[in-house]
Amino acid sequence: MNTQTHVLLAAAILAKPGEPARNTAVIAGALVPDLAIYTLFVWSKFAGVPERTVWSELYFQPPWSDAVTVGNSAPLYVLVLLIGLVASRWLRPAALLTFFALAALIHLATDLPVHVNDAHAHFWPFSDWRFRSPVSYWNPSHNGNLFALVEIGIGILLSFILWRRFHALWVRALLVLAVIAYLGPPLYFGVIAQL
Ligand SMILES: [Zn+2]
Repeated sequence: MNTQTHVLLAAAILAKPGEPARNTAVIAGALVPDLAIYTLFVWSKFAGVPERTVWSELYFQPPWSDAVTVGNSAPLYVLVLLIGLVASRWLRPAALLTFFALAALIHLATDLPVHVNDAHAHFWPFSDWRFRSPVSYWNPSHNGNLFALVEIGIGILLSFILWRRFHALWVRALLVLAVIAYLGPPLYFGVIAQL
């Protein structure tokens, strides 16, 4: 799924008003599997590499493919989760590791059913097996258009849940921006651009 949906989902499941450290750990955990992709994107802009080369070649080659694999490794986050669970018995802030790992695992669990050719080796380092789903979250040749609609629905529902839970103005402003980000492009290209 798209990064913003991962963040909203992890926040809806794990975030709590008045717990900024926990919520930061949740957001970081939801973001970290996509970190390599954003680093590649930013680097390619500075290096002047054309977008087509980035997503059809570099993304599938080391070192970028390795960084993506490490960031999407479920065993790695399970390890962090266990360390967090054990260490937090003596050191309370270690519970942040638990929230970080849980958010990352939620990210992986929701990416698994919606990746086809870009499927991740979620069980690395134990296995390089990749689940190639019939559904892609973006590719129209693999039901991507239909899933995009489903993801918009999920994103708006999660924004609504978080809106009810969080009353801080800046959180609500971000949620409004998220809804605009979901609805803006389809409204523009589907309705306004057709007029
Ligand atoms: Zn992802």
